[in-house]
Amino acid sequence: PRDTVDVVVVGSGGAGFSAAVSAHDHGAKVILIEKEPVIGGNAKLAAGGMNAAWTDQQKAKGIKDSVESMYKDTMKGGRDLNEPELVEVLTSHSKGSVDWLTAMGADLNDVGRMGGASANRSHRPTGGAGVGAHVIQVLYDNAVKRDIDMRMNTRGIEIIKDDKGNVKGLLVKGMYKGYYWIKADAVILATGGFAKNNDRVAKLDPKLKGFISTNQPGATGDGIDVASNAGAAMTDLQYIQAHPTLSVKGGVMVTEAVRGNGAILVNREGKRFVNEITTRDKASAAILKQTGKSAFLIFDDSVRKSLSKIDKYIGLGVVPSADSLVKLGEMTGINGKNLTEAVARYNSQLKSGKDTDFGRPNLPRALNEGNYYAIEVTPGVHHTMGGVKIDSKAEIMNAKKQVIPGLYGAGEVTGGVHGANRLGGNAISDIVTFGRMAGENAAEYAKKH
Ligand code: ADP
Repeated sequence: PRDTVDVVVVGSGGAGFSAAVSAHDHGAKVILIEKEPVIGGNAKLAAGGMNAAWTDQQKAKGIKDSVESMYKDTMKGGRDLNEPELVEVLTSHSKGSVDWLTAMGADLNDVGRMGGASANRSHRPTGGAGVGAHVIQVLYDNAVKRDIDMRMNTRGIEIIKDDKGNVKGLLVKGMYKGYYWIKADAVILATGGFAKNNDRVAKLDPKLKGFISTNQPGATGDGIDVASNAGAAMTDLQYIQAHPTLSVKGGVMVTEAVRGNGAILVNREGKRFVNEITTRDKASAAILKQTGKSAFLIFDDSVRKSLSKIDKYIGLGVVPSADSLVKLGEMTGINGKNLTEAVARYNSQLKSGKDTDFGRPNLPRALNEGNYYAIEVTPGVHHTMGGVKIDSKAEIMNAKKQVIPGLYGAGEVTGGVHGANRLGGNAISDIVTFGRMAGENAAEYAKKH
């Protein structure tokens, strides 16, 4: 009985934890497994925010937004290749997911702007601390409170089915116990993406061969193989996203919120070259066209103070600073004269309220306070949009679009939600909404079997 439950959840990122907590709260006995020795997956690294529309948090700040607007932005960002019914679920449940986390103790009261969004809808903890670590902590604490059986160092190997094709559990490999069968009526795959597996990435998109990645070591995509072997169909695997801003020094992912809160991007010549808060695919392509295939995020103390995460980057030693832009140029190899002009022009456009050079839609603050900072950045593989095919109930489908009974998927392991390009802030939203839904539906399914 120790290894017999209603629902097994594979993966301890945001999707897995949301699924486990939600399945438990819908009456299921749950085991959650994680192949790595630590919990949290990539979700824990997410720094930007959680996109949601028409939330109480937005209302409290007087922000006007709507589900329709989030829907349109998400489709546009994904080049209209998203599965509309999945985007419908993502956007219409986004407020509910924020409320669900808030009721469990999350603080998502700070609301900022991310690329491709036409309103401030990226929710994060007060002071702009990393949203992923916070959400994982809240979900983990709630899983502990519910006494959910969590097993680290335990890899999901193969879905077990009966002769009618119904899921009957999962073959796993525990670090000490070796292979064993967890018997369950439903399995939820929440194994994340494969951005850390450059062989797999480069086979699907040769342009990305040799690219560094922002991801944690577990993001290898073996969940994709587990699903395929169980007959799951795949979708959109060729769409792989580069995050535009990894620090050249150390490969640290610098959150989009730095730009959202006011940083500009310049090249070595000291010139702006793009709307800084365009979508990730466009920003990455623009940076790769600059001399040295890198660019510099430039900001001042007012931006620094607006986002506590920035002090972490400074602590890592990847952020040169100086009290003038000319000095900053000398330290970093940026043309200081042009940089001074670019910042002055940006500040004057901010006064007039319109960026006539690159059409940046939000100009949050002038860059003229205290010290100036630069982070040299280049794109790295960040998110894999494709994965297993699910329907709007998070049920995994086969190539004939039939549901595989008892098999559910949520989060980055699935495809279709983000089309060809995911907007910043939509990952946390995706994993919480589809994780909750997979948990609830798997629990209800298990009751009937
Ligand atoms: P999401 O954002 O979709 O929740 P994450 O990347 O945050 O995805 O989390 C996925 C987790 O699943 C990672 O911690 C990863 O190590 C784990 N994982 C991946 N493959 C397996 C597997 N076969 N068995 C168990 N855990 C897995």
